[in-house]
Amino acid sequence: MVIGGSRGIGRAIALRLAQAGFDIWLTYRSNHEQAQSAKSEIEKLGRACELLCFDVSDRAATEAALRERAENNAPSVVVFNAGVTRDNLLVFMKPEEWSDVIRTDLDGFYNVTSNVLFSMIRARKGRIIAVSSVSGVVGQAGQVNYSAAKAGLIGACKALAREVGKRNICVNVVAPGLIETDMTANLPKDKILPLIPLNRFGTVDDVASVVAFLCSEPAMYITGQVIGINGGLAT
Ligand code: NDP
Repeated sequence: MVIGGSRGIGRAIALRLAQAGFDIWLTYRSNHEQAQSAKSEIEKLGRACELLCFDVSDRAATEAALRERAENNAPSVVVFNAGVTRDNLLVFMKPEEWSDVIRTDLDGFYNVTSNVLFSMIRARKGRIIAVSSVSGVVGQAGQVNYSAAKAGLIGACKALAREVGKRNICVNVVAPGLIETDMTANLPKDKILPLIPLNRFGTVDDVASVVAFLCSEPAMYITGQVIGINGGLAT
């Protein structure tokens, strides 16, 4: 199950996992066209794909979409990738800029996992991976809201890894740096590139390949970790 799989990093993760042999539940908020095209690409790879449209910040809607479904069929992998930014300096930040980001990027993690975890525990296996950000690791000016939510995901996953390790469920975080997607399309590249030792933005596949590894058998002894994918931007 890839939460926020219609575009960008989440879509690349869904495709990689399909290539690795998983059938996919692909969730998204509103972009039906992109979700349909992701589904077609997955089906071309010979895997099944079910689309689920709901807003992860809406607790009731998330429960309605996931609880019964997970009870009947525990997901083997949950990738929590949905996220939004509402950048502003804290002195100017409006309450809704703070709460939109916390409600989607952090509360969304609770809304999703709390509805599927029991079934995964019963299945006694699984992988949970949250997509955080370098901003959640080192903090980013202009993103106090986003840095707080993404750091919160890291704390949540480290704690959850301790809760469910005995049930053979691994919980990890990936923390991408700057990746070429809709979210970063308007950033001033010329100012940012000198800060990245590898001198390029990452691709969605740079992230997807690490997530696919974390979902594979060789990664079965990795849990509670934060894997940076940032071209050396933060160490
Ligand atoms: P995009 O904006 O390209 O895609 C976001 C995805 O999340 C879409 O599938 C979108 O659905 C879904 N989504 C957003 N809000 C909600 C919501 N409230 N409920 C359900 N689904 C939602 O983002 P990216 O691919 O750039 O980023 C993916 C993740 O990676 C995010 O968590 C982001 O914070 C993180 N990240 C991104 C970096 C980057 O440089 N791009 C760097 C570090 C971290 P829909 O298509 O319907 O809108």
